[in-house]
Amino acid sequence: MASSTIRYVPTRPTDLGGMTIRRVLPSRDRRLVGAWCFFDHAGPVELGATGAFRVGPHPHIGLSTFTWMIEGEILHRDSLGTVQTIRPGQVNLMTAGRGIAHSEESPMPPPARLHLAQLWIALPDAVREVEPSFEHFPSLPVIERDGFVCTLLVGETLGRRSPVPSHTPLLGMDLLAQAPAETTLPLRADFEYAIWVLEGEAEIGGERITNGTLVDLGLGHASVALRVADSARLLILGGEPFGEAPLLHWNFVGRTHEEIVEATRQWNAGERFGEVRGFDGPRLKAPEIPPGVRLSAKPNPA
Ligand code: MN
Repeated sequence: MASSTIRYVPTRPTDLGGMTIRRVLPSRDRRLVGAWCFFDHAGPVELGATGAFRVGPHPHIGLSTFTWMIEGEILHRDSLGTVQTIRPGQVNLMTAGRGIAHSEESPMPPPARLHLAQLWIALPDAVREVEPSFEHFPSLPVIERDGFVCTLLVGETLGRRSPVPSHTPLLGMDLLAQAPAETTLPLRADFEYAIWVLEGEAEIGGERITNGTLVDLGLGHASVALRVADSARLLILGGEPFGEAPLLHWNFVGRTHEEIVEATRQWNAGERFGEVRGFDGPRLKAPEIPPGVRLSAKPNPA
């Protein structure tokens, strides 16, 4: 492993209604890892102090939302009519394609704690206007390796394959250790990877990392060494370099200024995205793009 190529990218916490969120992707120094184009790490938080988690109906285009539930529960509703509770150890995959709307809320009474990873996967140009769809994955392959419990969220590694589909080659894996543990994970040299500490701390590629720093491995690694001195939880993301420059704006992933302007207009006019039924609250308004502002995709820094 050429550890000289590993970069350590700091992130800043944001407060969202009393809950600490880390916006891991996109960041200035790393916009995409494979097709993973957005990653918010929410919690862990005691919900008692902050009230329930509620995000009103809002639209998406051009991406799949990927929810990995670690603690607590969230109720998902969407404009296809889906009503689905997600619980720890489960994944929700919602492919927006040409357009979908959804809401997310704590069931009542809310569970005591909430901890989740909310990710977006950019859809490649050939399929980014597919029909919207939603899939819930109640269980995923679990691999025990050198003291780590590895849950394979998407992709294939260590001889197993996740049932969660993807339009581009991807990897997502949660690694949980409850005592000191040490392993070497095989990697694909043609994938780029990043590792995030969800809880605790870890030694990754020889550096001690806590929550808040993204370990950006990039391409060309055959393996990575992981060591924890106490209980810790890590998330490894990987994928083939995406090869397109997506334009992220609000909840939309597109390619051009014009299509983002049009999606904004359509959502705010109540067109295109359908209705989310059953959510007790207002839909979110898409921020208007000010005249004179020209949206453009930001390429991944070299
Ligand atoms: Mn959403």
